[in-house]
Amino acid sequence: MKRIVMLSVLVACGALSVAVAGYQGQAPQAKLPDVTKVKDNLYIIEGASPVDRSMFTGGNTGIFITSTGVVVVDTKLAGYGPGILERIRTVTNKPVTTIINTHTHGDHTGSNEGFPATVDIVTHANTKANMEKMDAFKGEKAKFLPKRTYTDKLSLFSGNDRVDLYYFGAGHTNGDTMVVYTALRVLQMGDLFAWKDAPFLDRASGGSGVELPRTLAKALAGIKDVDTVIPGHHPVTTLADLQEYQRYTADLLTETQAAIKAGKSVDEATAASTVTAKFKGYRSDRLKAAIQAIYDELKR
Ligand SMILES: [Zn+2]
Repeated sequence: MKRIVMLSVLVACGALSVAVAGYQGQAPQAKLPDVTKVKDNLYIIEGASPVDRSMFTGGNTGIFITSTGVVVVDTKLAGYGPGILERIRTVTNKPVTTIINTHTHGDHTGSNEGFPATVDIVTHANTKANMEKMDAFKGEKAKFLPKRTYTDKLSLFSGNDRVDLYYFGAGHTNGDTMVVYTALRVLQMGDLFAWKDAPFLDRASGGSGVELPRTLAKALAGIKDVDTVIPGHHPVTTLADLQEYQRYTADLLTETQAAIKAGKSVDEATAASTVTAKFKGYRSDRLKAAIQAIYDELKR
């Protein structure tokens, strides 16, 4: 048993260092927290901030209990399948029937392999294509790739169980799904809104700092009847915080475009940036990397 866990730790490290440069060398050894109730029939297992590596288990995992089974949204780093199942057992005995991966990264798809191969796995079509390139889904592991994909919108189940999946364009990657638990008025964002900090723009997976503010604006206009938001890594929050984050990403883009026009270097642009101060409670751990990504995208 121990050997299997160690092996999956090693596999996760290798896969992550390829897939997500920002998470290089992070072994999934932190303990999973207990479930946190969001609303009736909806829980999350928090992922903790990637800034605190000792607590990091991956992204927030959604657990939605429907009349026929459990929907798991994002599966954290590799090696957490048994732990996630154990946490689910504290709130329901129903089987896991469906996994939704909001995007390709190993801290959101890593423990797909910890669930029975019969579980339906659903993602955006671009995310499936991105996952197919990951070592973690090659060979035997290909059975944990998505079985069902969509391009613009997909509804699963009906009545109080209904879950709507939306894609509004590139942002964090080119396949970010927003998940709406319609009866509960809850929106799970994945890393399109990961934290209150500059976005991680994964250009190798089709991410775009130019598109991100537009994608979020389209989502805010197109998704109705939501009051609660589950970010990719930050604790559960409000729709107002998502609206604020959209403004943050728009301001970051505007100020970076101006810095490029003024001939500033990335370091100068980062030092002169005012977005962190403008938005209360925001950090700047990822500011320089985001500005660099927008420079790379616009300067070609
Ligand atoms: Zn991500």
